Amino acid sequence: MRFRLLAAAAAFAIASPLAAAPVLAPAAELSKDVQAFVSVPAGRTALTHVRVIDGTGAAAMEDRTILIDGAKIAAVQPASAAIPAGYRAIDLTGASVIPGIVGMHNHMFYIARPNLDASGHSDDPLVVPQMTFSAPRLYLANGVTTMRTTGSVEPYADLNVKSEIDAGRMVGPHMDVTGPYLEGPDSPFIQMHQLRNADDARRTVAFWADQGVTSFKAYMNITRAELKAAIDEAHRRHLKITGHLCSVTYPEAAALGIDDLEHGFFVNTQLDPGKTPDKCSDGQGTPTLLAMKPGSAEANALIKLLVDRHVAVTSTLPVFAQSLALHEPLNPKAMAVLTPEAKESYLYLRNLAATRRSTPRGQKFAEAYGNDLGLERQFVAAGGLLLAGPDPTGNGGVIPGFGDQRELELLVEAGFSPLEAIRIGTLNGATYVGLADRIGSIAAGKNADLIVVRGNPAADIRDVEKVETVFKDGVGYDSAKLLESVRGRYGEY
Ligand SMILES: [Zn+2]
Repeated sequence: MRFRLLAAAAAFAIASPLAAAPVLAPAAELSKDVQAFVSVPAGRTALTHVRVIDGTGAAAMEDRTILIDGAKIAAVQPASAAIPAGYRAIDLTGASVIPGIVGMHNHMFYIARPNLDASGHSDDPLVVPQMTFSAPRLYLANGVTTMRTTGSVEPYADLNVKSEIDAGRMVGPHMDVTGPYLEGPDSPFIQMHQLRNADDARRTVAFWADQGVTSFKAYMNITRAELKAAIDEAHRRHLKITGHLCSVTYPEAAALGIDDLEHGFFVNTQLDPGKTPDKCSDGQGTPTLLAMKPGSAEANALIKLLVDRHVAVTSTLPVFAQSLALHEPLNPKAMAVLTPEAKESYLYLRNLAATRRSTPRGQKFAEAYGNDLGLERQFVAAGGLLLAGPDPTGNGGVIPGFGDQRELELLVEAGFSPLEAIRIGTLNGATYVGLADRIGSIAAGKNADLIVVRGNPAADIRDVEKVETVFKDGVGYDSAKLLESVRGRYGEY
């Protein structure tokens, strides 16, 4: 049966090579394995006496009832209004409901540094183990109901995970699968294809679009000609392309038509000393960020360019906060999902960040981080579309799902209100992927993709960590059960 379904899917792909599987598949019947994590089955459910934070940035609404009918939200009404017949009521007094997170920099892999020691030394090459088992569970457990993979190392695995989830056979979020990194020579990642020229970039995009990926990502050592070819081919297929850039500056990429820029303003190299065209600079953007004070003439010009060209920016604060001395520790729930090796890596690197706190390098980084926060605020104030994602890579301290919650907290530390931070993490992502009419906020007719948290994240954003149930397509998943299923596994598989 399973084989026949896969064969049918393959036949469909051959018949229409340009039709990628949509990010939001119709809700499927769930397998026994998936049902094991379900606490509220599909049907008619009334979540009563909840505080609703709808994701648009509007003030929280107290004491509401959310009616879920199948995969959709049927209504949001005062708790005093009558519940129609046929609904199962769940009293959630003391809880809040926010939209499912739309994670826009959410990988399915871990980065291992072979033989990492307490001095920070590791042996080459970096290796990237796929987290096909743990990552989808971690995302869903922590409230991420839609995610972009934002660069795939095993794109076939990510595509297959998406179809297994969409078919109800694996547990996880809706996925926008990004193609393999569009990267040139001199990459630190030995598992990536190295583009040879612009035609190779175009063919790579065409090939992976035909395989079903729904977005692309340019990387640090791409040339302008390759990026241009990739953008044109992606756009010809109505797909979007983002970039973690270095060899190409932000103004160059905006002029070429890129849709999104990863890592806030950390990796713009336009003012880096010694920057030559098409080559990644030694500073990889830090000198530019140090030179670009929020509100400066350079900052104003760049932000105007990005807003005028409708280029989104993805904030990935958790991965950068790892380099700040004495950054926020992991909570115990997050610590519990790491392998012993990932815990060790996290603690070594946390220790090293702390030892750098009064060194020039540590102070420069803290200054650059502060500039980025100011530029992200300035970008939003100017009308820019800011997206959010954790970038779960590297040292074990940024974990799928937990990192998405941390991103919301760091946006609030950056100066956004909790309601603005929630909007950036939900509706803004949905807007970017063109699905704002279906996901990203709480309203009648939209997907019932919701997070039930204890407390009130509109007052204290840290309450986004207190996830009880995550609804995807109207089915409630037990967050604790999902986390228990990956205890000690993140970093392994
Ligand atoms: Zn990344």
